Amino acid sequence: MRVWSLGSGSRGNALVVMAAGRALLVDCGFGPRALVSRLKRVGLVPEQIEGLVITHEHQDHAQGAERAQHKWRWPVYASAGTLAALPEVEARWRRPLVAGQAVDAAGAFTLEAVAIPHDARAPFAYAVTATASGARLGIAHDLGAVPDALPPLFARCDALCIEANHDPDMLRNGPYPPMLQERIRNGRGHLSNQQAGALVAGLSHPGLRAVALLHLSETNNTPALAAEAVSRALHRAGSRTAATAAPGRTPAALFTLDAATASGQLRLAM
Ligand SMILES: [Zn+2]
Ligand SMILES: [Zn+2]
Repeated sequence: MRVWSLGSGSRGNALVVMAAGRALLVDCGFGPRALVSRLKRVGLVPEQIEGLVITHEHQDHAQGAERAQHKWRWPVYASAGTLAALPEVEARWRRPLVAGQAVDAAGAFTLEAVAIPHDARAPFAYAVTATASGARLGIAHDLGAVPDALPPLFARCDALCIEANHDPDMLRNGPYPPMLQERIRNGRGHLSNQQAGALVAGLSHPGLRAVALLHLSETNNTPALAAEAVSRALHRAGSRTAATAAPGRTPAALFTLDAATASGQLRLAM
């Protein structure tokens, strides 16, 4: 399994997950033209993508979803609530998911979803398992708190992509007005570095090989602070895995999990 970020943060989000030559796009916060150029920068083309998974309908995650679906005829996997916010997705390509029910996607993946708290209609976090290799990836994008159902879904993941939005001190002392700060912190906003660290530390196990941090605030966080907070939490939990922040504005390879993931083979390509 290989994972790329095409961009991460309030300016636009998209991940590509590839296994056995088949790829899923997770979120589409870019219009078709930007998507093509961002894919090109990591050596990919839209024709390689066989399905689109959406976490929630916010612009930075879904603004290009309907146009891309029309252009490339992708099936779109999301909660019924998220799909309701994307009315232009063609009826025959809508794939509503139910939390707790596993579905096959793109002929190479199993998708499992769980509801997460965020100020959107029905946001989901996902576990994506490559059918052939068994490599398992947990993706939790915007979430204000960690619901009880999330850790069990993410247990035994080989890799995690988790939001680490803000450093609490930077948020408190930064330029955001109190009302906006409260919306970020109120449990339906965004995870802090420390909350992400606690989540990841609780999920730590010998098979956890890579942790990428997503959706860092450009105002209230830095890649070094986020990576340090989460890596420290991992080390305290006995893990030797370090967390790395996905670049905000530029596409990048995040990690590669070899087919022999179970034996601990991993190449980091960050
Ligand atoms: Zn977002
Ligand atoms: Zn959001």
